[in-house]
Amino acid sequence: MAVHIGEVRQNTPAAIDIKGLSKEYTTARGTVKAMAPMDLSIKAGEFICVVGTSGCGKSTLLRLVAGFEKATTGSIAVDTEEVLGPSPSRGVVFQDYGLFPWLTVRENVAWGPKQAHLKTSLVKERCDKYIGAVGLELFADRYPHELSGGMQQRVSIARVLANEPSVMLMDEPFGALDALTRRGMQEQLSHLHRDIKTTVIFITHSIEEAVLLADRVVVMTGGAAKNVPGHIREIVTIDLPENRDVNSEHFNDLERSISRLVNTEEEDSSHGVDADASAEVQAGETNAEDEHKPVAVPRV
Ligand code: ADP
Repeated sequence: MAVHIGEVRQNTPAAIDIKGLSKEYTTARGTVKAMAPMDLSIKAGEFICVVGTSGCGKSTLLRLVAGFEKATTGSIAVDTEEVLGPSPSRGVVFQDYGLFPWLTVRENVAWGPKQAHLKTSLVKERCDKYIGAVGLELFADRYPHELSGGMQQRVSIARVLANEPSVMLMDEPFGALDALTRRGMQEQLSHLHRDIKTTVIFITHSIEEAVLLADRVVVMTGGAAKNVPGHIREIVTIDLPENRDVNSEHFNDLERSISRLVNTEEEDSSHGVDADASAEVQAGETNAEDEHKPVAVPRV
């Protein structure tokens, strides 16, 4: 899909209003009802984490907000603007970094602002600001293969931030990192979010990570193995201070209650969905991915 590079905005965070959003995929084996119609309102500057077992529609939701895919029903408004396709004002960070290997760190970060035809002086200013924000000043002239996984992920975050997006969409961005690096990245992202007021939707398999980072955690459930389209089970407000202690009693209570929501069956799993609106038309199919239950990352 073509990426429409429009005007790069200043990073004023945007509110996101999702109404009746659903997604079906048509495959050779039938229709996959990936997501039942859902509503979700996100405040400007809010940090939202989405958790749930594999196949419950987390990435589908993110791709729809990114504008990479078209919804089957419903709408997404970012501030008052309807999402009709990708935009640099909605930056996406994936687990696999997605850096251009033939460009240096600085050139990777400069790519978006250059595409937006910003003045050379402004491109340089943005590069300095965001390479600095992720602590990679000394590595600006290195190529991605010369960097560790954690550093490469910091470059991909700086590259998105250089477009000064109003929304940042992050799909398991720290999933490939070792526990120590991951904790460092979580702290850095938390600080960055406080400085750069961007609205964030962050998908993770780690409930601890969600409680550490989020203002609210959206717990999704459903999926092919449960024969129910993915949907929101509950939204949990994380009423913890900015500097969070993973060992505090309240932190652990929140982690436990979210874990229960993720890993136990709903009493009413129909969610107003018709009996024939199963996640997958073919009965008896299971999704091997559903074996992966969200887990807490080891404490470091
Ligand atoms: P999650 O991110 O929660 O693991 P996904 O959003 O990736 O879940 O997938 C939700 C459901 O939609 C799954 O059953 C998945 O197999 C199905 N799905 C996702 N993308 C496609 C696609 N392009 N074609 C067909 N089915 C898909």
